[in-house]
Order: sequence, then C-alpha cells, then structure tokens
Amino acid sequence: MALDINEPEFDVIFVGSGIAAALAAHRLAEARYRVLILEAGGVVPDSLNRLALVRNYIASPGKTADSPYCGDELDPEIQPDQVTGKQPDQVTGKPYYQYPVGNKHDFKSFYEKLVGGSTWHWQGIWLRMIPKDFEMKRSYGIGADWPRGCRYSDLEPWYSDAEYEVGVAGNDQQAETYFKPEFGAYRSRPYPMPELTPSYMDAHIAAAVQGKIFQDKKILVTNVAHAINSQQYDGRPACDGRTSCVPLCASKARYDAVNHIKKALAAGAELRANCSVTRVNLDAANHKRVTGVDYVEKIGTQMEKYTVTGHVVVVAANGIETPRLLLASNVANSSKLVGCYLMDHPIKQSFALATKPLFPYRGPQTTSDIEAFRDGPFRRTYAAYKTSIKNDGWSTVGAILAPRGIAIDNPNVKNREDKHTADSMGTLLNFVGAQGLFGAKLRDKVVDHLTRQIVLNSAAEQLPIRENRILLSPKEKDKFGIPKPEIHYALDNDNGYLQRCFTKIIKFHQFVFDQMGIPLKDQYLQDDDFKTYGGSGHIMGTTVMGDDPKTSVVDPHCKAHDVDNLFILGSSVFPTSSTANPTSTIAALSLRAAKTIERQLKGQP
Ligand SMILES: Cc1cc2nc3c(=O)[nH]c(=O)nc-3n(C[C@H](O)[C@H](O)[C@H](O)COP(=O)(O)OP(=O)(O)OC[C@H]3O[C@@H](n4cnc5c(N)ncnc54)[C@H](O)[C@@H]3O)c2cc1C
Repeated sequence: MALDINEPEFDVIFVGSGIAAALAAHRLAEARYRVLILEAGGVVPDSLNRLALVRNYIASPGKTADSPYCGDELDPEIQPDQVTGKQPDQVTGKPYYQYPVGNKHDFKSFYEKLVGGSTWHWQGIWLRMIPKDFEMKRSYGIGADWPRGCRYSDLEPWYSDAEYEVGVAGNDQQAETYFKPEFGAYRSRPYPMPELTPSYMDAHIAAAVQGKIFQDKKILVTNVAHAINSQQYDGRPACDGRTSCVPLCASKARYDAVNHIKKALAAGAELRANCSVTRVNLDAANHKRVTGVDYVEKIGTQMEKYTVTGHVVVVAANGIETPRLLLASNVANSSKLVGCYLMDHPIKQSFALATKPLFPYRGPQTTSDIEAFRDGPFRRTYAAYKTSIKNDGWSTVGAILAPRGIAIDNPNVKNREDKHTADSMGTLLNFVGAQGLFGAKLRDKVVDHLTRQIVLNSAAEQLPIRENRILLSPKEKDKFGIPKPEIHYALDNDNGYLQRCFTKIIKFHQFVFDQMGIPLKDQYLQDDDFKTYGGSGHIMGTTVMGDDPKTSVVDPHCKAHDVDNLFILGSSVFPTSSTANPTSTIAALSLRAAKTIERQLKGQP
C-alpha cells in the first residue's frame, strides 16, 4: 500500500532509547506531540529492586559491563564474552565490528543494546566541555572548531537545564574558584545537589600532590560532578557507595535513561522495544524530507517487518549505529562524511600498592580527579588528558581484574626474577595457585593487598581524523540483512599528537606514585606506546556538526543539512572529542534540539 505522507502516524519517531533520545522524547511528549520510540534492544526486567540484575552480576565470573543483563534480550553479536571481557570477534570468530585488512588499531568501545541504552552501564561522570574545547582550531591550530551557535556560551543554559533534569551532584565552590578562572567554564546555576563525598583515598592522594608543579602546571585534586544522587532526588535515593556503577547501580542512585523513557511514556509517548530500524525512508519526490522508517520487530525467533510514518525522524542510535543506518539508507550523505571522524578517549591506566591501607572498594567508582591537563598551550603539540583516581581497586585493570581475576602473571611486571610470586597480581588465582596461600595467611594477604590498591586512569583527547570511519561491511551482514559496521581506526595520525600525550601520562602517573612515597617495585606503569590502551565507551564523531553542508552532516541544531525533517542526536555529532566524558554535552544538545523540533512542528522558523 502506498504511504500517505500527508497523514503520518506520529509527529516524531525516535530511533534508539538512550539518553540522547529519552530527554528529547520526554520534552516532546510533554508538549503533547505524538512520539514513537523504536528500540532495537529489550526492556530490562526491573521489578525486584534490581535484585535479578544484581544476582546476574554476582553469578557472572567475568563481571563485564554486560554481566547484569544476561538473557535473551541481549544481542550476543555485540556483547563481550562474560568471562574474559573480550569482544565477540576474539571469541567466536564471528565479529560484529569488522576491520579492513591492514587496519591499525582495534576500536575498543562498545555500547548497550537495551531500552535506556548505555546509561545502564555508564559511570555517571558528568563533565561539561570547557570553552577552548569548542575552539581547538582557532586556539591551537589543530582539530576543528564547533560551529558558531554551538559554543560554550550557547550551550551553557542547556547544560544547566540537563543537570536539573538528570540530577547532578557537584561542588559549586570548586566550580567558581577553579574551573571558572582556570578554564573559563562559568556556570549560570548551581548544581542541583551537593557533591559526592570524596573518598579516603582521594584525601590521601591530594595530601601528597596538592599544589605541586608538574610540567608547568599546578596539580589540584578536585571533586568530579556525577549524575549520581548525593541526596534524594527525583524519587531516587542517595548513593550508598557500592563501587559498581559500571556495570550496574543496584540502588538507582545513578541516573539512567529509563527514568526519562518512563516519564515520556507517562506523558503519552509509545515505546516499541525489540524493534530494529533497518531503513530511514525518503520521500520519493525530491528526497528532501523523510517520511518515516522501516523496522523489524523480533519476538523470540520470529521477525515481523513494519513501516511507520512521522513528521520528523530523530536518529539517536549512537556513534556506530547512527552512521550505519544512514549509510544503509543512503540518507544525509551529500558531504560523503557520514561515518567519518570516529573518536574515543583512549585510556592509559597505571596501578600501584600504597604504603598503607587506603581502603578502595567504597563509594562511587571515582570521586576525585586531576584536570590540570585538560587545557593549555601544550595542546598545539600533544593531546589534553584528565586523570581519574579510581575507588574500585584493581578490579577494572586490564587483564588483572583483582581479586577474582584471571591473571597469574602481571603483564606489567618486567625484569623480575619470579613473575609468579611477585606480589603484584592481587588475584586469588595468584595467591592460591602461584603462591600457595591458604587459611589465615590467604585472608591476611587478601586484606592487606586489597586495601592498598590504587589505580590512576587517564583519558586522552583524540583528534578528528577523517580516515577513522565507519563503513558498511562489503561481506558481513547482521541478522536483519544490514551490513555490519566496518571500522577503520588508528589511534593517532602521523604527527604523534596522541603518542606524545601517552608519554606524558605515564610520567605523570609515576610522579603521583613517587609523591606518595610508593617504591618503584610497587608501581605498575603501563607502556607509553600503543601496545596497551583502553577505550572509554565514548563513541564520538561519525555524523559531525558544522555550518557548511560540504564539510559536515548536521547543522548546529543537529538537523541534517540534506534533509529538512531529520535530526541526529548523540555524540556522533561532536566535531572534536575534548577530554570531557560526552554525556553531559549529548544531553544539552538533545534538550536544545527538542526545542528546535518543536518549532519545526509548529511551522516556526
Ligand atoms: C563502560 C562505560 C562507562 C561510561 N561512563 C560514562 C561516564 O561516566 N560519563 C559519560 O559522560 N559517559 C560515559 N559513558 C558513555 C555513555 O554511556 C554514552 O555517552 C551515552 O550513554 C550515549 O547515549 P546515546 O543515547 O547517545 O546512545 P546509546 O546509549 O548507545 O543509545 C542508543 C540506543 O539506540 C539503539 N539502537 C541502535 N541502533 C538501532 C536501530 N537500528 N534501531 C533501533 N534502535 C537502535 C541501541 O540499542 C541503544 O539502546 C560510558 C560508556 C561505557 C561503555
């Protein structure tokens, strides 16, 4: 049957139900528009105060970011192995992420395919970008500038708006006395909640480094704002400090997008879960408007195909899936830039054993960090970074995963006589299997080791490199017949911008450990090259924003240049990555775009 685009079934169709979609869907549903949310993943059962999810997590040997969400709803194609945490490609030989021959580096970040998206397993760190992050080209001659109309001062009211929607705990005094003078990151409103209490470990590290100079910068340990309740907010409790934010907040103190999906539904929106959008449809006449989308509903092993129509389509399916869908639909790509400029925040982690107990494994996973290197003239020559002090011991460190752990040998123990007995792994496998400890001796060792574990986690800015991109795999398709993403990725380009940063990071980690008086034998510094690195889960770029339709995919309000009624939400629109975790900026852009969509629906310019 021919579609009648004059009578669409919905005002706005959202593809995806993560935070980017949820905030805007809620605003538009509240404004009485007919909103449909299509989500490829399922609804996580949430009936028993999350007890079922907590049990899954406890039972899972690997404790990976997906371990609470085991079950039919999970898509094994995109989930890492539950024991080793390895991506499916390394386990089954059936990769979801495809790489071309000769690809330089693996892209290590992934996402959650569920109603609520990746906020199920995010850490909740809420950092705004700073003004210079929006003007890298102008300030340092490198990277790109965000378009006029989308700089810090334009987004500041929307950052504030988002903070009150989501519920953010932060330190107003530090914002005023440090972040404003140091980075120009002023705030028009206070945080809705006081900050999360810094951990005992934070205080100890601060005492060792506060005010010291490292590479011309004064070091300050500062509180990290979080979308985690420090007091009751929006019907959710205050954090009770279980240090499991990734992969699951057991108490709902940490915000997740299901909150706004529920609010949107209460305001009249409709959610269709287990519905994967396979195509964005353009009007046959002039390809200037979208008419709606095709999707496949998965019920058990059954698949049903549908088409749905809308006045506006919003693709908010993250930095991998948004470009994949647009490329598969051949939409919004006159610039030929859909998929280009893929970015993450590559991570270097170093770890150590403190000289006395600092009692990690309490509180949220991070409460303080060191942000001195987020900006400075050095950005002309090497990447900015920020360093988190982790409260979760060595539980998230590479192959260590203490104390349950999979490592006997510590890859960071070099040139030591006996790797098996070096007191460095912190895993039961090592204590029992290699060191032969049992009973009281084992208990004493575990207590002594776990209470002294420290991790410094530094995440670096990555430049937008055009060749880092998502393409459609020429060979492999998913179960819906859509080509899988083929990822072309190199951490750095030839100018060594990130490589130099990694070298600085490792020196900085050693500086902090030295200041704490930790002997070298108890410091495990990562190599400063590209052999070891982590992904942050921050999938940015791939449908970048700009003024010029020839050099960007969306305009400053996230509307596709090519298509009048197509919007793209999420960090895929970021022209640069900065050092800020992306979700605050995703949220600010989504709330602003909701206003633009509302104007468009009202026929206003
Ligand atoms: C371990 C980890 C920790 C993190 N911690 C932080 C942090 O502390 N602070 C921070 O700022 N950020 C953090 N992030 C990043 C943060 O989770 C993301 O930035 C954010 O959740 C992205 O939201 P989104 O709505 O844009 O995308 P997503 O949450 O990925 O949502 C997109 C949704 O679209 C759905 N979808 C995809 N394709 C289709 C399709 N074809 N049809 C229908 N639906 C589709 C997906 O299933 C998904 O549910 C973390 C990420 C990870 C992995």
